[in-house]
Amino acid sequence: MKTHHTYDTIVIGGGPAGSTVATLVAEQGHRVLLLERATTPQFKIGESLIPATYWTFKRLGMLEKLRSSHFPQKYSVQFYSRSGKGSTPFYFFQTNPHESAVTWQVLRSEFDEMLLDNATEKGVEVRRGVGVREVLFEGDTATGVVTQNTDGTRETLHATVIVDSTGQRSLIGRQLHLNTIEPNLKMASLFTHYEGGHREEGIDEGATLILHTEEKDSWFWSIPLPYNRTSIGVVGELDYLLQNRRDTNGKLDTQKIFTEELEKCLPLKQRLEGAKQLLPIQTTKDFSYRASRIAGDNWVLVGDAFGFLDPVYSTGLFLALKSGEMAADVIIEAFEKNDFSEAQLGSFGPAFVNGMEAFRKLVYAFYTKEFSFARFLSEYPEHQGGIVDILSGDVFRKDVTHIFPAMAKMCPFPSEVPLESSAE
Ligand SMILES: Cc1cc2nc3c(=O)[nH]c(=O)nc-3n(C[C@H](O)[C@H](O)[C@H](O)COP(=O)(O)OP(=O)(O)OC[C@H]3O[C@@H](n4cnc5c(N)ncnc54)[C@H](O)[C@@H]3O)c2cc1C
Repeated sequence: MKTHHTYDTIVIGGGPAGSTVATLVAEQGHRVLLLERATTPQFKIGESLIPATYWTFKRLGMLEKLRSSHFPQKYSVQFYSRSGKGSTPFYFFQTNPHESAVTWQVLRSEFDEMLLDNATEKGVEVRRGVGVREVLFEGDTATGVVTQNTDGTRETLHATVIVDSTGQRSLIGRQLHLNTIEPNLKMASLFTHYEGGHREEGIDEGATLILHTEEKDSWFWSIPLPYNRTSIGVVGELDYLLQNRRDTNGKLDTQKIFTEELEKCLPLKQRLEGAKQLLPIQTTKDFSYRASRIAGDNWVLVGDAFGFLDPVYSTGLFLALKSGEMAADVIIEAFEKNDFSEAQLGSFGPAFVNGMEAFRKLVYAFYTKEFSFARFLSEYPEHQGGIVDILSGDVFRKDVTHIFPAMAKMCPFPSEVPLESSAE
């Protein structure tokens, strides 16, 4: 096993969070190594962006690349109630006349690759086919990583800062037992891609649709993608969608469950008439969790490695990009001050968690069966703008909390989960 110490920062995982932090730190002249275990671009779920990603793309120098891509433009999100009735689309330009109000629906294999190419252009050393088995610690201080290459060889690499951007693998979170599942969001999802099917025209062509099924036990997303593809997925409580659907032998037929749920969602079923399912149904579950800490001495968590809420408002990619950007700023500052303590590297944590909490409250509202956005807005029309701001991702640039006292009268909110530190 070889040992090296030639890097300022090692970033583990080449998804959007990892590419972002790596690019911005390398741009300041630091030696950054990014390790991605996949050898080639992969199919991934998480295909719909929200407008506030614009500002991170701008810093990354990605806007022109996205504008000239074939990714459909997304102007709005539209909700369908259990009765099959569609809301007026929430157009992001309603509260934001800026070009940032329009965003994209992305094919992840291509999008993640664009971000990684951009990282390489900005000076990051990107190594593919290198998985990290373990992060090395001395006490609470991260000192390096042990890698495993595709040929089975292992290597120990050291760096001043270790960034965990391994997504739901959550390498450091698992190693240090930091993660807690959201107790009231024990969800599962089944998803696939279709080719063909109905699309609106004009600015509604690229809209995300969120459609409840008849009994409101589950909901579907419909996300238009390039190549005339549409991403379709259903989300529901784990017990409802998977656990209680096993046959007498304990087996799960996920295709059957998916079809049964689609039968309960007439507007979507109609849109998919004549469309061809391209992929076998894929499954994921228990994806709503968060780590109790965001950093320690010489280590930081970004993106899903820190936590993930729920797919409903497409906030995952935005939070991955935003935490990557915020972490990059504290890492750059750490090198200026020569201070790699938990206090320095975790200093973006409270502001980040605050923004995440706004999304979290809206997620809980969505899953409260008695709550309806239509009813909320008919009683409090003055909060339409606040909702559009949150759906756009404007939780860090604007104060969006003014909508919550009124909303709390209609749905119970979870208590906030503060960040912990090693001292606790
Ligand atoms: C059902 C579902 C639907 C979703 N829909 C949306 C949506 O529409 N819009 C949206 O914004 N978000 C959505 N999300 C969330 C979104 O997919 C994630 O938030 C986003 O991908 C997080 O980016 P990331 O960079 O943190 O992690 P990832 O994109 O998961 O990247 C992590 C990377 O790390 C690599 N890796 C893992 N372990 C190791 C290791 N040990 N060594 C080296 N490399 C490693 C992986 O190969 C991967 O490339 C959805 C999530 C779910 C569960």
